Amino acid sequence: MRKAIQAGAKTFEQVSKRTGVGTGPCGGRRCGTLVRAMLGEPVINCNECGWPILAEPSAQVCPRCEYAKQEG
Ligand SMILES: [Zn+2]
Repeated sequence: MRKAIQAGAKTFEQVSKRTGVGTGPCGGRRCGTLVRAMLGEPVINCNECGWPILAEPSAQVCPRCEYAKQEG
């Protein structure tokens, strides 16, 4: 992922195309935020697991915890 960013990928979509991130079983729900954080988007950390979450009010759901809940 870092290489793709260093190579000039500036958005999650571009990083996804270069690395395939976001196309795996989690659909980018877990790693998408990490990529966005690397791209310099503001993030906060999940109170439960410490995973980075987008700081946008509309996106303040921890993808990692959500995924774990869905897995059951
Ligand atoms: Zn969490």
